[in-house]
Amino acid sequence: MTETTAGDFIADAVRADNATGTYKGRVQTRFPPEPNGYLHIGHAKAITADFGIAEQFGGVCNLRFDDTNPDTEDVEYVEAIIDDIAWLGFSPAKVLYASDYFQALYDWAEALIVNGLAYVDDQDQETISVQRGGYGKPGVESPYRNRTPEENLDLFRRMRDGQFADGEKVVRAKVDMQSDNMQMRDPVMYRIRRGHHHRTGDQWVIYPTYDWAHGQSDALEGVTHSMCTLEFVSHHDLYDWFLNHLELPYDKPQQFEFARLELTHTVTSKRKLRQLIEDGIVTGWDDPRMPTLQGLRRRGYPASAIRAFCANVGVNKTNSRHSLEELEAFVRTDLNRVAQRRMGVLHPLKLVIDNWPTEDGRTLAEARQENPDAVGVAQFFEVANNPENSEDGTRQVPFAGQIWIEEEDFAEVPPPKFFRLSVGKEVRLRGAYLVTATGVVKDESGRVVEVHATYDPASQGGNAPDGRKVKSTMHWVSAAHGLDAEVRLYDHLFATEIPGETTGDPLDDLNPHSLDIVSAKVEPELGKARPGDVVQFERVGYFAADKDVPMVFHRTVGLKDEWAALQKRAA
Ligand code: ATP
Ligand code: MG
Repeated sequence: MTETTAGDFIADAVRADNATGTYKGRVQTRFPPEPNGYLHIGHAKAITADFGIAEQFGGVCNLRFDDTNPDTEDVEYVEAIIDDIAWLGFSPAKVLYASDYFQALYDWAEALIVNGLAYVDDQDQETISVQRGGYGKPGVESPYRNRTPEENLDLFRRMRDGQFADGEKVVRAKVDMQSDNMQMRDPVMYRIRRGHHHRTGDQWVIYPTYDWAHGQSDALEGVTHSMCTLEFVSHHDLYDWFLNHLELPYDKPQQFEFARLELTHTVTSKRKLRQLIEDGIVTGWDDPRMPTLQGLRRRGYPASAIRAFCANVGVNKTNSRHSLEELEAFVRTDLNRVAQRRMGVLHPLKLVIDNWPTEDGRTLAEARQENPDAVGVAQFFEVANNPENSEDGTRQVPFAGQIWIEEEDFAEVPPPKFFRLSVGKEVRLRGAYLVTATGVVKDESGRVVEVHATYDPASQGGNAPDGRKVKSTMHWVSAAHGLDAEVRLYDHLFATEIPGETTGDPLDDLNPHSLDIVSAKVEPELGKARPGDVVQFERVGYFAADKDVPMVFHRTVGLKDEWAALQKRAA
């Protein structure tokens, strides 16, 4: 799977390193999620880039959990992340944990302290943050900045031994309080925090910050090219500063920053996604409306479509928001190739074929005088499962004198250019017969509840023997054979393209109609659908069988290529 664009700037840098022998041809990357939530479509881009570069240059990519914050992390997320990466189609060379380096990081911190490059500060977070100043505003040195290495070492060991309360002291790197780069103004390396860690338990009461853990973990593992998103550009100098002052087991890794992936009508922040769950707006991380890999997967998105989309987005240096329709176009292209065709009627309306034969030679109309549920003779049509792939074979679809058609395929008073069914009009029932509507039955409110029709017995297969033109082909389900299904129709979770653009809070822009549940009638073959199977309901869209509940189908995506339409409009 070499899906990374050959021309991207990180690949160029690797090529240059290989040419000069910086890492003696070695290429090692890592994907470093914090296990505090589920992976989303943005992470898929990072995964594609991290694994892609390694693969492109015959290197390795590890999965490293950035598990340095006991308060928010959990083994539930660790397991889900491992599972999601495998589903997406990537295999980490190793699964590693930053928490395995807590001792090594501690030892390195002692070395910095001994060399006068780090100190213990007794001030609280707020004071430290005020003293940092801002751009063009000088920083103020901490009154504890010039403690001796001996005193710092003693205090640091006592911090580790649990002799101070949470938040009572921190360790800071002694860099430059006047730097134009705020990250360099003596950043915090350790905090005291009595949280139970999902792997190290209560062994540690001091935890390293992101900045102190990240680059050092890279260095300990032998990472060569360390990729992260653009918000870490300002941390780049600090990444280098730490590594320049430590004795490293391998050649010094380099940090590269690329653009985050954002999608229209979508948020990709774990904090916001968690809020959607907590507020009961979605049912969980795997709600099919969520941009999480678990959500997209349950919705029926193929992993290959997500990979192809990410490869197409590429690795770049400007943040951009891609159209959700663009991702959907990749999904549709994939599914059109692989999804088997079925028939399902989402808003069923009964069609009764009055001249349909019954076993005793009467017409259905006659038989129904006695038994309104009579359907007459059953026939079975052999239908191709997938016109795009003959290897998918055929199936038998039952047909009889009462069938379900789509409510919107019939009009009592047809508007102009309505080519589907109305009284006096002839249409084709896909793969079955030509039928002509003859009348309707209404309920007390005047709603059409039954359409009556006659069929042309010579049109079996759906073609008129005399070659007369029949414009419309409709899908259908035999009423006596069809199964009941619950179909969940999804729309954007957020109504606006950029959720939160005006108020700052994406939740202000929620689409109140993101889920519509309908009771559908589907052909019997769908009773055999396995969890997660994705099929095309002809003329309607692609649908995924739920992973847990039988006969529940999620609409993956519609049939219309909205991306092509958007591009045409833009051109
Ligand atoms: P969030 O803001 O959703 O919590 P994060 O960046 O904190 O995301 P991490 O688990 O720390 O999440 O991310 C792991 C890796 O994935 C990092 O290298 C991060 O830069 C990258 N990543 C996260 N979100 C995106 C995104 N939207 N687009 C591209 N890469 C991303
Ligand atoms: Mg993070």
